[in-house]
Amino acid sequence: MEIRGRKLELLIPEDKIQEKVKELAKAISREFNGEELYVIGILKGSFMFFADLVRNLEGKIFIDFMQVSSYKTEMESFGEVIFIKDMSVDIKDKNVLIVDDIIDTGRTLKALVEALSLRDPKKLKTCVLLDKRERREVDYNADFYGFEIPNKFVVGYGLDWAEEGRNLKEIYAVV
Ligand code: 5GP
Repeated sequence: MEIRGRKLELLIPEDKIQEKVKELAKAISREFNGEELYVIGILKGSFMFFADLVRNLEGKIFIDFMQVSSYKTEMESFGEVIFIKDMSVDIKDKNVLIVDDIIDTGRTLKALVEALSLRDPKKLKTCVLLDKRERREVDYNADFYGFEIPNKFVVGYGLDWAEEGRNLKEIYAVV
């Protein structure tokens, strides 16, 4: 398979993703112990992971979305995080789970956690499917993560390269 003339190498097949999503959902359900939970998806990259995760969560679940962006070229970001769309619910005294596709430098999740903490949630946790740990530039790790992956640009399962590839059911590295 190719995107924009570059080959895609399969990194994580569909069955492994689905297995991991169920595992994560179990751990998250245990953490919040059947209490009300506001699950906040970070658009757009998390949409597929978010949908699969939420349908495996137990208890009283509410959903909402935020959109953030960092100044970036197609494959590289420069660190400043901009909030494009806020959620529409009030999370004061609520349990909140932020769901993103991938943690890379860590700047996006760290900025989100700092901003949302100011709204006084009861408990605030983060969950990502992918973790490029060797790329971290700030001191932050997600509370829940699916797979640690090498320093390669990845697409599929919601993640894009210049808006292409989000529909793929598997995760691929661009080679
Ligand atoms: P961070 O702020 O942790 O550096 O970056 C997080 C965001 O960068 C992710 O939400 C995602 O949008 C983007 N990103 C980082 N690495 C990749 C990658 O390998 N592929 C894609 N498609 N997006 C990535």
